[in-house]
Amino acid sequence: MTDFNADADGFFGSFGGAHLPPHLVAPIAEVKAAYEGARNDPEFQAEYARLLAKYVGRPSPLFLAERLTAHVGGAKIYLKREDLNHTGAHKINHCLGEGLLAKRMGKTKMIAETGAGQHGVALATAAALLGLECEIHMGSIDVAKQHPNVVRMQLLGAKVVEVDEGGRSLKEAVDSAFMTFARDYEDTFFGIGSAVGPDPYPTMVRDFQSVVGREARQQILEDEGRLPDALVAAVGGGSNAMGLFTEFLPDEDVAIWGVEPAGEGLDSDRHAATITLGTPGMLHGMQTLVLQDDEGNAAPVHSIASGLDYPGVGPQHAWLREIGRVNYVSATDQETLDAFSLLSRLEGIIPALESSHAVAHAIKLAPELGPDGVIIVNLSGRGDKDIDYIVERMEGRA
Ligand SMILES: *Cc1c(COP(=O)(O)O)cnc(C)c1O
Repeated sequence: MTDFNADADGFFGSFGGAHLPPHLVAPIAEVKAAYEGARNDPEFQAEYARLLAKYVGRPSPLFLAERLTAHVGGAKIYLKREDLNHTGAHKINHCLGEGLLAKRMGKTKMIAETGAGQHGVALATAAALLGLECEIHMGSIDVAKQHPNVVRMQLLGAKVVEVDEGGRSLKEAVDSAFMTFARDYEDTFFGIGSAVGPDPYPTMVRDFQSVVGREARQQILEDEGRLPDALVAAVGGGSNAMGLFTEFLPDEDVAIWGVEPAGEGLDSDRHAATITLGTPGMLHGMQTLVLQDDEGNAAPVHSIASGLDYPGVGPQHAWLREIGRVNYVSATDQETLDAFSLLSRLEGIIPALESSHAVAHAIKLAPELGPDGVIIVNLSGRGDKDIDYIVERMEGRA
């Protein structure tokens, strides 16, 4: 049977690893050693499980979307309701894990970059709960665009560092946060926001998120008495998708679909379909698929969902595509908006635009599977954060 874990050096096939400048080798090795300990420590795992239950509100429900199913016609569509978690998305799952690990390592502070601010808010939440300082680096353009999330982070006690270099966006924020980490690592933990980056982060973030699939498996067995025919999740860096997929990877009869943002179309240059159109390269300390120019620089990317707007992808996804275990497809901005409206009107659930990519694919898949089929969609987050953008778009301003 296939082993779906990384090798000792953090490689999934030829993807992954830890490709670091010399000054970051020791700090990241320290994280890896600490995580190995935590992973096998029942006390750590029990405390993590307690927070997931009592603070996040897990298990999240698995909800049969009956009106959506009837409207689409075909397989039953179940929604794994990560949108009901505290803070409204799946990110809190791994941020709490990272926070607990930081404490275990004796760190007093967490640092991270954020683009749209979702990761920053989730990490600041975990830091507040666990009594850790928190410093979030953010490009100054994003600070202006994402003002409500900046206020949230500040209310949660985090320090938001505005980065004014270069393009003043996510890439510069990453560089700035890493520089600060390299200087302060003795008391600081770097909290990565997806299943990306140098080993051990892709494995660690996946492990923390895999509670989603463990719950979903048990829930679908209770509701349907069998495993689903298909799983569907949106893929940005790939954390919510790995969270749902991991528990089902050995089940060959379960088809698995990762949905990338096709933006304004795969034939335009306004998308972020990294697995579909990327090529092997190096990004943020990992070997993976990257949307890049001829010189190997990460290309500008676009998605209507800011959380999917990333030119790389977690190395395990690149490998799962290579071995053919997971199918990667894409949904355009327009298909995503249609799915967003449909779910809102038919089920009273306003989904995040990220999650709406997964819903869009389920809508295509359900008729193909037919009425005997069962699909689980990871509803990674709620859409309240996207309302202002939707209003702008409807008024023709976006
Ligand atoms: C950040 C985010 C994503 C994308 O990140 P992954 O690591 O690919 O899961 C998806 N959905 C929501 C709601 C998010 O906030």
